[in-house]
Amino acid sequence: MQFSVSNAELTQKVAEKLAKALHAGDVILLDGDLGAGKTTFTKGLARGLGIRKNVKSPTFTLIREYHEGRLPLYHMDVYRLEETGGDDLGLEEYFNGDGVSVVEWSQFVEDDLPKEFLIVHFIKDETDDDKRTLVFEPRGKRYEEMLKIFE
Ligand code: ADP
Ligand code: MG
Repeated sequence: MQFSVSNAELTQKVAEKLAKALHAGDVILLDGDLGAGKTTFTKGLARGLGIRKNVKSPTFTLIREYHEGRLPLYHMDVYRLEETGGDDLGLEEYFNGDGVSVVEWSQFVEDDLPKEFLIVHFIKDETDDDKRTLVFEPRGKRYEEMLKIFE
């Protein structure tokens, strides 16, 4: 499943819709280069969960938690773990927790990821700075189910 979006607000709108289908324990991986729109997408997810606080990139803190919405949101950016992996971070507790986990740069904690998740690929356009293609790839039944929200 994929969407072509022509600006940041539309990326957030797609995420906001997906948020309606989220359950406790869901894991969403966001794959794309710096500036591709991963954090922007997470802002939309937060909005869809009813989180009013401004979602900021957790590049330096690695993890930010938001507890005011329909479900807790655990937003992780593990870019800084490229060298070390995620062994010491207790990621599993987040993935198995009561909230929704969203992970930027998940390839750096590959060994710690659950077997099933939704991965969203962000592909930039060569000519239009504001255009992205969002490709949703479900791994596992739960995530196929989740994407029915877009039908
Ligand atoms: P990442 O977290 O992937 O590094 P960010 O979401 O922090 O990326 O930054 C994406 C930047 O690109 C933001 O400044 C955003 O406004 C801009 N942008 C422009 N068009 C889009 C789009 N269609 N989707 C998402 N972001 C977009
Ligand atoms: Mg980011």
